[in-house]
Amino acid sequence: MSQNASHLQADIERLAPKYQRPGPRYTSYPTAPHLSEAFATNQFEARCAQADQRDLPLSLYVHVPFCRSICYYCACNKVVTRTPGAGQEYLNALDKELARYRDWGLNQRLVTQLHWGGGTPTYLSDAELTQLMHLIARNYQLTDAPDREYSIEIDPRTVSKQTIALLRGLGFNRLSLGIQDFDPLVQKAINRVQPYEMVADLTHSIREHGFKSLSFDLIYGLPHQSEQSFSKTLAKVIRLGPDRIACYNYAHLPNRFTSQRAIDRLTLPSATQRLRLQRLIDTTLADSGYVLIGLDHYVKTTDELSVAQREGRLLRNFQGYSLKSAEDMMGIGHSAISQIGDMIVQNARNLDDYLAKTEANESPISRGLTLTQDDLLRRDIIMDICCKLEFSLSETCQRYGYQAQRYLKKEIEDLQEFIADGLINETDSGYRLTTLGRHFLRNLCMVFDAWLERTPVDIKYSKTV
Ligand code: SF4
Repeated sequence: MSQNASHLQADIERLAPKYQRPGPRYTSYPTAPHLSEAFATNQFEARCAQADQRDLPLSLYVHVPFCRSICYYCACNKVVTRTPGAGQEYLNALDKELARYRDWGLNQRLVTQLHWGGGTPTYLSDAELTQLMHLIARNYQLTDAPDREYSIEIDPRTVSKQTIALLRGLGFNRLSLGIQDFDPLVQKAINRVQPYEMVADLTHSIREHGFKSLSFDLIYGLPHQSEQSFSKTLAKVIRLGPDRIACYNYAHLPNRFTSQRAIDRLTLPSATQRLRLQRLIDTTLADSGYVLIGLDHYVKTTDELSVAQREGRLLRNFQGYSLKSAEDMMGIGHSAISQIGDMIVQNARNLDDYLAKTEANESPISRGLTLTQDDLLRRDIIMDICCKLEFSLSETCQRYGYQAQRYLKKEIEDLQEFIADGLINETDSGYRLTTLGRHFLRNLCMVFDAWLERTPVDIKYSKTV
């Protein structure tokens, strides 16, 4: 480790106890726990149907909730099942939901971004995957433009080379693979066994089919992980050369996610070990040509997300980071979240409720929120912190007709401590995160989160550092 790197590590370890607290990951603001069941669905339908929206591009998310087996660490909205016909029943429900949106005129909007997530989208058979893409094409304007971002999450354990070829043929040009860790002991402890050779073989096939981008998901803080074991995993990851790598910090919340009770707490790395794992990831990936673009996400320096960040075109949404080609996002399926204009809504989080609502031709939306001016202003600042790593309070406040020194007096006072700790610097127009500050990015966002104190008691966030 170079002298600079060891100073940085020492600073992180010194400040971690002060800043380590539960906090959101800010894939939206306000965050999902603040959506209200009192929200009137018809407001959202009216907003979607506004004629002036029809020329704007759209980002479309499709949630496929099924998994064949449970990964013990999982905190996703999923349903573990092997029931024959589950996929087809779900496709019938999606068909009905899509038809509702067609009635609102959303079908005229060009889908520049498409993402299928889960659960495990590749739980569906090849025939069902094809049927799902046809359903979407029947209801929305899909594009074959080379700059489209059409991505799907795949589970290496459920995908054959034939399926990879099919996905390319269906129009996907980006794939994301759940890796987590290559160490056999860790894989066994989390109930997700997928040997390196299996992933290497699949990666080779993905490259052969000319996908524009391949992304890997890793998790640190899992049982039995050590710097020594994880450095071997990182070496294997780098050998496979994904374009993007998302590294998430595992949040052990067994009271909230029952499957995590199968993980022996005593096998988890300590807080200090986790910080060292995070540092190992940082230095190893930086030395291998990857750059940290914000929260948890590393990309090759030549990747378009890295270019987009430099040019201020990066966007953060429920799937992480993407290019800013569509502001509005429509989510389809069980528990899917949509963000159209100043509204955020979420479909029923219980699969049976979702299926029953769609079967009855009713709206599957179960909760939502209309953002106030204050929410929009704070959202802009938080997204600037996450995507640009710099923010200007005066410019943002001016956009909404406020004077920053008065409107954000308390927040500006709070920032002084971040400056004193070397996490941000003042610039001519505002503030910029330092290299050290990037490790405390969520804490900085929390300064501007006016909803934090209203977080429901049953919601437990992961630790910020
Ligand atoms: S991690 Fe992915 S594959 Fe595993 S249970 Fe969760 S959603 Fe399913």
